[in-house]
Amino acid sequence: MSNFERIDPRAGLTCEQEVMCRDRNEWLPAGTFETIARDETGGPARAGRLWTRHGPIDTPCFMPVGTYGAVKGLEPRDLVEVGSQIILGNAYHLSHRPGAERVAGFGGLHEFIAWPRAILTDSGGFQVFSLRGLQKIDNDGVDYRTHFDGSAHRMTPRSVLEVQAGLGSDICMVLDHCPPGDASRAQIRDAMDRSTRWARIASDLRRDILAPGQLCFGIVQGGTDLELRREHVAALREFDFDGLALGGLSVGEPIPEMHATMAAIAPIMPPERPRYVMGIGTPADLLAAVSAGVDMFDCVMPTRHARNGQLFTWQGRMNIRQSRYRDDASPLDERCVCRTCAQFSRAYLRHLHESKDPLYGRLATIHNLFFFHQWVATLRHALREARFGPRSRELSQVISQHYPPTGPVEGS
Ligand SMILES: [Zn+2]
Repeated sequence: MSNFERIDPRAGLTCEQEVMCRDRNEWLPAGTFETIARDETGGPARAGRLWTRHGPIDTPCFMPVGTYGAVKGLEPRDLVEVGSQIILGNAYHLSHRPGAERVAGFGGLHEFIAWPRAILTDSGGFQVFSLRGLQKIDNDGVDYRTHFDGSAHRMTPRSVLEVQAGLGSDICMVLDHCPPGDASRAQIRDAMDRSTRWARIASDLRRDILAPGQLCFGIVQGGTDLELRREHVAALREFDFDGLALGGLSVGEPIPEMHATMAAIAPIMPPERPRYVMGIGTPADLLAAVSAGVDMFDCVMPTRHARNGQLFTWQGRMNIRQSRYRDDASPLDERCVCRTCAQFSRAYLRHLHESKDPLYGRLATIHNLFFFHQWVATLRHALREARFGPRSRELSQVISQHYPPTGPVEGS
């Protein structure tokens, strides 16, 4: 058996090197992106480091999602322990609950939630455009009614930056128009042109609205139409952004098309800036993204699945609700070194789930996040050690054996 399953995702993280934690003078200016290693086989994959006001992020990097300012069930120290260097919040959710001004009154989101490392916030545009029937889009912004209480609001390229300035986000996302996965080419082009218009406004305003060191990323749209995607990358290159994201993926399009879009477009995004694919993904999606030269990704999958009883292991996904685990004294994953696997049996975790104890969600989330960080760390270490070719083939084998893209969830 190869040894990559035992990689500790925390090993080699820049902030674990004590000098970086002790002396901020060692930190590089926020927005600095260093490429540390490249795929030794000549592909576009790379390992790097992005500096934020709250420390470095070693890339490729998986970012856990904490929509309302908490990765559900976990404390900040749990996130540090599993190796998270950056988490996601959502400006739409936070601007309504508890309110961006209220958070700003506490000195920003970092202080409010007691999280010392980096935070990226999504603008919330994706959520507002998903409020079908509750929004009205024009060329300057979008009027919407919240899913909280139906109250009416307006979101513009300026307002989303103002909210994120108040939250104190390390990485702010611009407002873009993300069309649904089944949109026509005309609708996709329309959304893309509107996104370009809004990106220009954000690029012009960001220095006035955001504090020094708050980074701002643009978002590439264009669906799975490679011509439109290329056109949009070229348009956004002209603006003042610290990184570019691929938006509008994993919104219902076929998985091979999503992977093909990343493979074609990520390598033509500016190489000197970090590349981020929003809202992915499965272990297979993450391997495809890293192989395409993507540096950052986020997904609710490890945290949401954990709470639903779905646990990721090196032997595939397991459903802890199954009765066959009732007397199983083994850990979730023999090869995992997370706190959950070090202490607890499958039988106990199943019991906690069955008895609806909140401890279950916490322990399951710790394990799943550890697995995702471990998966990405395997690729990051491989790039740094010039072994990306063999390592990515090994992970491909794990995927084809245990994580077939369209395979059924065990026990469901
Ligand atoms: Zn574990």
